[in-house]
Amino acid sequence: MLLKIILVFLLGMVLIGMVGKALFPGALTGAMRRKGLKPPVCGRCGRYVIGKTCACKKG
Ligand SMILES: [Zn+2]
Repeated sequence: MLLKIILVFLLGMVLIGMVGKALFPGALTGAMRRKGLKPPVCGRCGRYVIGKTCACKKG
């Protein structure tokens, strides 16, 4: 009885995962990729940081 409930629960989780993948293909990875591709912006002047430090920090 308990085993049956667990099996049904697991099947439901797998189904939800499959439906989610079918509806939103690469939604999570896409969001992560977007975050990774976002160029670093300086917190002080707001310009894109080229290299390790911004030009404004160098003085
Ligand atoms: Zn800066």
